[in-house]
Parts: sequence; structure tokens; C-alpha cells
Amino acid sequence: MTKDIATPGRTREILEKYGFSFKKSLGQNFLIDTNILRRIVDFAELSNDTGVIEIGPGIGALTEQLARRAKKVVAFEIDQRLLPILADTLSPYANVRIIHQDVLKADIQRVIDKELPEVSDIMVVANLPYYVTTPIIMKLLEDHLPIRGIVVMLQKEVADRISAQPGTKDYGSLSIAIQYYTEAETVMTVPRTVFMPQPNVDSAVIRLTKREKPAADVVDESFFFQVVRASFSQRRKTILNNLTSQLPNGKQRKETIERVLAELQLDPRRRGETLTLAEFAALSNRLMDVFN
Ligand code: SAM
Repeated sequence: MTKDIATPGRTREILEKYGFSFKKSLGQNFLIDTNILRRIVDFAELSNDTGVIEIGPGIGALTEQLARRAKKVVAFEIDQRLLPILADTLSPYANVRIIHQDVLKADIQRVIDKELPEVSDIMVVANLPYYVTTPIIMKLLEDHLPIRGIVVMLQKEVADRISAQPGTKDYGSLSIAIQYYTEAETVMTVPRTVFMPQPNVDSAVIRLTKREKPAADVVDESFFFQVVRASFSQRRKTILNNLTSQLPNGKQRKETIERVLAELQLDPRRRGETLTLAEFAALSNRLMDVFN
């Protein structure tokens, strides 16, 4: 087996060979600990029939570990300077394809059709660029891709918000959006010392397992998310106040909103952070009915 990329010595050697300097604006914090990488890959439960989509391969630290365990790895990298480096470091792995593109602009479904036509199982695995963690995860879910799940490293603070339960300070529209599509768990917290350069926040790995169908029956997803966002728009306000001030024509519809809350036995003085996903679904379905 070839020498691992993710050691401090080999990483430094590669960076020096190519005169590479980190771009903070692209969230470039590379992993230099093979044990952490192997654990991330373990959480993804890959088989030799799994196709992996990676976002931001950097110099290939995680890509290499994935290539050893999966059927094929397709990795999106935005930074052109990394392409010749990756061609070099990943040359031992014939099952890796690097795509030079901003993942947020990519047609991922098309890439799956083209690059992973024969695999029966697809996972997304990445050490995400921290400046765009939430948009990337939301895109992966809202694009309704045929993936089994997502295992990613991100800021611990965002991981806490994603897996938060009702009634806690971290619970909010992000928790609901992600838990609607997936079962979310924080599987590992990670010290800053395993990155080069070290980020100035703590990190964690989350595993999102896609549900066969969303966690609640929602008639109109975009209105559901609108109701959720409205309910959290000012955390200290009651749901009644937030809904009347944030929903379209909310002020004129105050009485209707009060009636719906009463019908559903939701106390109008409750705060958004106490409502479960099922309660938000019932609320948005009923509001949708009476608003139309
Ligand atoms: N996977 C490598 C590792 O673990 O060492 C690097 C991870 S580093 C945290 C994030 C990587 O994402 C960088 O290589 C960066 O250039 C890349 N990146 C940043 N924004 C991106 C985007 N919008 N699309 C694709 N890649 C991006």
C-alpha cells in the first residue's frame, strides 16, 4: 500500500513540492490524521459496491482512504491549483474522478448518472469547507439525490444545531430542515490539532441517514419551511406573534391564525423552539388550507 497522504510530514512535503499556500476564503483546513480519517470512512459503512461523492478533496487525504474502500470516488474541487497536486497524489487510485467545479453550481444528479451508473449504493463523505456547510448540505437534500446518506465533518456548533431536539437552545429551522429529510446524529467530535492549518472553531462529524420518506406528511414543502422560518424569526417571541408578523398578510389573518392554533391545541404563547416537527407539519398543512 502507498504511504498515507494524511500525515504531517507527507502533507508538508506535498505542499512544499507544489509551493501551495492555503486559501482561508475557501475553507482550506486539511486533515493530517489517518486515524480520524479511517473513523470517518467507517461511519459511512462503505462496501466495494458503494459510489462516493466527495466535496473538496484538498490534496486527497480523505479521497485516498475512500478510494481504498469504495467502488469509485467522484470528488468536486473548486480550487484549480489543487488539480495537478491531486493528479499526482491520487495516481495510485484508478477509481477516482476529480471534477473541477463549485459543488453549489453542479448538477450532481447528472454527474451521478454519468459517473456512477452501475453502483447500487451512494454516499456523500466530506470534510466540508466551513464557510458553506449549510448551503452544501441543504443542496444535497433538496436536490432529492439517490443517496443513502451523508457523513461530513463540520463546525461543532453547526453539528449541534443540526441534531438538536425541541426545547433546546440549538433547535431551530436548520434542525427541522435536516431532520425532515434525514435521521441526524453527531458521531464524533474532533480536536483542532488534526488539521493543517488549525481552524479557530471545534469540529464534529455528523451522519445523516436519508429517510425513505420525509419525517412528516407535509402538503406543501415550501410553505412548511416558510412557517418554520417565520416561527423562529425572533426566538423570544411567541409563535402567534412571529406568524402574524412574518407570514404573508399575517396581520390581517391574525384571527384565522389564532383559530388554527386553537383547533390544533397549540398554545399561542409557545415559542417556536418548543414545537416538534410533527406539530409544525400539522400547523402548516392547516394554515395552507385556511389561507387558500
Ligand atoms: N478533504 C480535504 C481534507 O480533508 O484534507 C480538504 C478539506 S478542506 C476543509 C475543504 C476543501 O473544499 C478545500 O480543498 C477547498 O478548496 C474545497 N472547496 C471549497 N469550496 C468549495 C466548493 N464550493 N465546491 C467544491 N470544493 C470546495
